Amino acid sequence: MNFELLVATSNQHKLKEIRQILSPHHITVYGMSDLNISIEEVEENGKTYFDNALIKATALQKVTKMPIIADDSGIEIEAMDNMPGLMSARYAESCGGHDKAIQQILKSIKGKSRKAKFICDIVLVNVEDKPLRFEGVVNGHIAEKVDGNGGFGYDPIFICDEIGKTYASLSEQEKNKVSHRAKALQKLLTYLLINNRCY
Ligand code: IMP
Repeated sequence: MNFELLVATSNQHKLKEIRQILSPHHITVYGMSDLNISIEEVEENGKTYFDNALIKATALQKVTKMPIIADDSGIEIEAMDNMPGLMSARYAESCGGHDKAIQQILKSIKGKSRKAKFICDIVLVNVEDKPLRFEGVVNGHIAEKVDGNGGFGYDPIFICDEIGKTYASLSEQEKNKVSHRAKALQKLLTYLLINNRCY
């Protein structure tokens, strides 16, 4: 039987990426709306990505016993003292959306270091007694200008050092091989494979 997972996110881009990476391994990935689950919005007031992922996963544990994963992620930009980091979604919101946030970033780091990294923490609950954590980190830098139409969020300005292109100029399949989320999910997959939950 397929291993079934519920993803604690309302971000359809994240859900799509997670599904594309896990489904070839006979894992059925559900979003909350697929199961008619809705919960009150939780306050992501943790001090780390792990804390915030756990807050999201724990909120869903109140309504289901099925395995749940939650992802918390963000972009850390050296010249901005590693901001927006944990605040990546809120920073974009405060600027009036990702396009405006991107322009703000390009302006504020002009002439400074362009080093950046993307971080993703995935937490799995309802499988073992304690939550399990899987982390993915991708080093890169901020492009001089936006490039590419794919992906979401900060993808048009994040150049992944491993391939020298922005996330937004990669195909979905390419991004899903190299991204911070892909790296965290590969670790989750290794855990599930070793424990015979998928194949
Ligand atoms: P979260 O949903 O609280 O984890 O916020 C994640 C935020 O980080 C997103 O809203 C984006 O701003 C940013 N982010 C995370 N992953 C990606 C990605 O793969 N591409 C672009 N932006 C991302």
